Amino acid sequence: MKKTMTFLLLLAMFIVPVHGTETKEVKPVKNVILMIPDGTSLATVSIARWLQWYNQPEVPKLNIDPYLCGTVRTHSSNAPIGDSAPTTSCYMTGYPSRTGYVSTYPESDPDNDIYPNDPARAFQPLITVLEAGKLLHGKAGGLVFTCEFPHATPADCSAHSYNRSKYEWIAPQMAHNDLNVVIGGGASLLPEESEYYLKANGYTVYKDDLKGMRNDTSNKMWALYGDREMAYDIDRDPNEQPSLAEMTRIAIEKLSKDEDGFFLMVEGSKIDWAAHGNDPVGMATDFLAFDRACGVALRFAQENKETAVIIVPDHGNSGISLGVRHCGGYDKLTKDQLFNAFSQFKLTAEGFVHKLNSEPASEVQNIFREYAGFELNEVELQALYHCKSYKNSPVPEEERSSEGIEPSLYSGSLNTFVSKLLTSKTCFGFTTGGHTGEEVFLAGYHPQGDIPLGMHTNIELNEYLCNLFGFTRDELDELSSQRFAKHTDVFKDYSCEIIPSKEEKGFPTLVVKNKKKQLNIKPFTNIVTEGKKGDKEIRLNSVIVHVDKTNTFYLPESLAEYLK
Ligand SMILES: [Zn+2]
Repeated sequence: MKKTMTFLLLLAMFIVPVHGTETKEVKPVKNVILMIPDGTSLATVSIARWLQWYNQPEVPKLNIDPYLCGTVRTHSSNAPIGDSAPTTSCYMTGYPSRTGYVSTYPESDPDNDIYPNDPARAFQPLITVLEAGKLLHGKAGGLVFTCEFPHATPADCSAHSYNRSKYEWIAPQMAHNDLNVVIGGGASLLPEESEYYLKANGYTVYKDDLKGMRNDTSNKMWALYGDREMAYDIDRDPNEQPSLAEMTRIAIEKLSKDEDGFFLMVEGSKIDWAAHGNDPVGMATDFLAFDRACGVALRFAQENKETAVIIVPDHGNSGISLGVRHCGGYDKLTKDQLFNAFSQFKLTAEGFVHKLNSEPASEVQNIFREYAGFELNEVELQALYHCKSYKNSPVPEEERSSEGIEPSLYSGSLNTFVSKLLTSKTCFGFTTGGHTGEEVFLAGYHPQGDIPLGMHTNIELNEYLCNLFGFTRDELDELSSQRFAKHTDVFKDYSCEIIPSKEEKGFPTLVVKNKKKQLNIKPFTNIVTEGKKGDKEIRLNSVIVHVDKTNTFYLPESLAEYLK
């Protein structure tokens, strides 16, 4: 018996590699397109596909369907259920990190860390595949998304911060990281200095200017829509904001002009936002908009023959299910029973909120009849009128309460009320308003067929992305230590002084002196000045990061050369 067990064990070790495709050779490509539907669980994909097929009987499949090839186990460094910032950071850097961390090494959490952690590396910025492609091969970089540009996922590809909400640290890094094309939300979030830097360095910058973007002929362009995030696809005014598919097409057109190749990340950002609100309309229709953008990328890759496409969510969200307790007889529910009502919803909950708060209460039934295909009954009307955030309610705010209101519909938030109301007309279920820990789907296209098959860990997916550009995760890590070294190590032989800013929200300056030579180093930029007057500029091709918690500047080792 013991002999048989040993034999079987040995057999298993040779036949089933311990980690996914670790051993499989991946032929490098010229271009990589990473497509991320944020917070998309597999059931969201199923519901979106059914909705599209219900509305278009001639379209039973999604653009991604022929390329589905595996799953990814995604999580944070010390928690199985991931946050957007650390999960995409891991795809981009090879290291899972803590919630809120943007492409930054996690502080250790000895009792909970899922993988071994080196406490000495806490808060170190980590080079991303996009940055490495630029530094090692001169690849162009592009970002397309529907959230505001400094938000978690686009930031994960091009900036570094242990706190994802520190837009004042993240936004300037993205501008100074010499990305070639940036299209998405956040027109009000571009700092003046960053806009000046972009324009001074040959970029065209558009804000809420669809025509301008469409007529743009440059290869270095920022086009931003909406003060912060963009509208959901189904709510979008096509005369004001482009679709994700159009943004993807324009980005590829510009990036593919770079002879060294490019890295492009496209995010369906707000699928996640709708999932947090348990809004099935936003989830399904923004996923279909994302799938159309995938169609654009996949068609380009097939024609171009030098491009790989990877499609993978960063984590699950909401626990959505097709089938729910209050819909009995689950195995006899027809396509019409499951999708007819749903197919008539023409706005997301956010879209309904805009409408309801901009038209008189007398229009409520017209609005729901026109955009949802039903009128509210008395119970639903009362629940609406008692929403605290319903501006046009006929019930004075001080009289609004949950008393006597149908509990399954009551909410202070109009957005949540509408999500509950629309969901009550379907057989979809939700288990949470937060992220979920199940693995996510993986789809891939490779011109020579080297696609990632099977279940991958998030770290292995990074290894695959690195291999597509002809380097390894270890080489990426080596680049991090070269590009993001501690100033205390780089300038250990020189006098260093960190001068706090006089401005309240200003950043400190690191002044390093050696005899007559002096460097003046500010964070979140790629520009360093030389000399007492700081009148000579050194332009780097990576950004400098300051971590206030440890008062440490992370910068390229090579900067020491300027003081020799
Ligand atoms: Zn996310």
